[in-house]
Amino acid sequence: MSDPQLEQQLAALHLTAVKQHYVDQARQAAQANWSHETYLARLLDLETDRRTRNRRQRRIKEAKFPLRKELADFDFEAIESLNQQRILSLAEGAYLAQAEPVILVGNPGLGKTHLAIGLGLTACRQGQRVRFYTVTQLVNELTFAQQEHQLPKLLEKLQRYALLILDEFGYVPFSATGAQLLFQCCSALTEKVSLIITTNLPFGDWVQVLGDERLTSGLLDRLTFRSHIVEFAGESYRFRHQIGFDPQRR
Ligand code: ADP
Ligand code: MG
Repeated sequence: MSDPQLEQQLAALHLTAVKQHYVDQARQAAQANWSHETYLARLLDLETDRRTRNRRQRRIKEAKFPLRKELADFDFEAIESLNQQRILSLAEGAYLAQAEPVILVGNPGLGKTHLAIGLGLTACRQGQRVRFYTVTQLVNELTFAQQEHQLPKLLEKLQRYALLILDEFGYVPFSATGAQLLFQCCSALTEKVSLIITTNLPFGDWVQVLGDERLTSGLLDRLTFRSHIVEFAGESYRFRHQIGFDPQRR
């Protein structure tokens, strides 16, 4: 039997699943002769499940992924240089607990962004706070925050994530201020927040986009300490999967 007063209390306590299920579970409890404890435990399980599901969805929404790319849809056979086991064990998430950086490096079209988003989605489902940026977006945000005297606030906000994904390092060179802000940001996050960086540039060429030797070596020092470096080699996946492409005929 439903009880309006009870429902009001459950709503006030945000026990949505309990409110939704207390009647049907009571019926089952009577049929199966559950103890009071079993009935209560059952309702709390439903409530916990609902909250876990909601939290995952909220995390994914907050991460602002530009696309939905799942690890499960990644064809590991296609990229010979990749060790599937290594990626899957990364996905288990120990790197997040240790705030270790992950650097995905290789030519365009090899699936770096796909893997970065896949790892990000997995982290969200583990309940972690994640945020996806292209490096350019982040640098713009940092620059704007600095102009508005809000940089410390932004850095503090970024430190509350478990994982920041910085996509496409190397496509666009930075201004001197941009490079400095990126460096400052990465320093503030070191050993607190995991970074996944995707880049087409080997480390030796990073100075070309950062424009300053000392800053580059400082940044690399922070990013490569206890990092997972994953190299992508081969031919663009996109290109190879164009219709009619036959590798034998090239
Ligand atoms: P990158 O970031 O290295 O330039 P992307 O991740 O953007 O490459 O990949 C380009 C496109 O090809 C995307 O649509 C991606 O989902 C797809 N793709 C790349 N590699 C794979 C792969 N190994 N398995 C499945 N899809 C892939
Ligand atoms: Mg990419």
